Amino acid sequence: STPGLPKPNWIRVRARSGNGFDRTQAIVREAGLTTVCQEASCPNIGECWEQGHATMMIMGDTCTRGCAFCNVATGRPKALDPFEPGRVGKAVASLGLRHVVITSVDRDDLEDGGAAHFVQTIRAIRHMTPTTTVEILTPDFLKCDPAAIDRVVDAGPDVFNHNLETVPGLYPQVRPGARYYHSLRVLDRVRQRAPSIFTKSGLMVGLGEDRLAVHQVMDDLRAAGVDFLTIGQYLQPTPKHHPVARYVTPEEFAAYRAVALGKGFLMVSASPLTRSSYHADADFQQLRAA
Ligand code: SF4
Ligand code: SF4
Repeated sequence: STPGLPKPNWIRVRARSGNGFDRTQAIVREAGLTTVCQEASCPNIGECWEQGHATMMIMGDTCTRGCAFCNVATGRPKALDPFEPGRVGKAVASLGLRHVVITSVDRDDLEDGGAAHFVQTIRAIRHMTPTTTVEILTPDFLKCDPAAIDRVVDAGPDVFNHNLETVPGLYPQVRPGARYYHSLRVLDRVRQRAPSIFTKSGLMVGLGEDRLAVHQVMDDLRAAGVDFLTIGQYLQPTPKHHPVARYVTPEEFAAYRAVALGKGFLMVSASPLTRSSYHADADFQQLRAA
């Protein structure tokens, strides 16, 4: 973390414990899969993995983009592994998941941005565990290529998540390879094409954003019909990454949550340790019941 900006006590990470963690680790390892839990050094890994909740990151461990907040390596990715979708399906079955979150690196090097690989992964999970609900957390598919997005939507995920990550004013520093309105349009496109699929997006705070700009992002998301919002504290993965501007207090997170619910989101998760995939299973059950 940033020198001179000590982590507040509400950021403390619980130690891993129990056999569930080891079991999850063994299944992930044996399947040769990459997880965002490990790649992002997620503070919730002890809790999530104890319950088998691992979020797989498909299409390799090298990304064609280099976001200032992200710990994933940037470079030229390897060719897609055609057997990866099957291995994901098998791991999901072994983990016995009721709900799974699948994410990926960004693949600007592929003609379809990786859409077909997402489709195959969804199909493999549907084939092996038809009752597992599938949530995908996607890249922007070549800055919102409609054909690529439609392909993925037509594979019928239960939840389509694409993160805006931060307020538009911070995009040049934080997400230099992306455009705010492209990302917003991805979500809008999903909603137009398949109104029955839940849409979800997320933001990190503590990057230097203004509170009112966050409220504006909420309005933009609601205008795109987005159902579910996550807001969590940004943590700096290494000193080379974007600094933490400040630690947002739990009270401020509660205030963001109240504002977001007032704007009409069906579900809002806002807390220091909220991540896109944190408690995704429980939240999806609530979302469905809403
Ligand atoms: Fe993995 Fe998400 Fe849990 Fe973090 S919050 S450990 S990324 S499932
Ligand atoms: Fe990380 Fe995703 Fe940005 Fe790639 S596109 S650097 S995986 S946040």
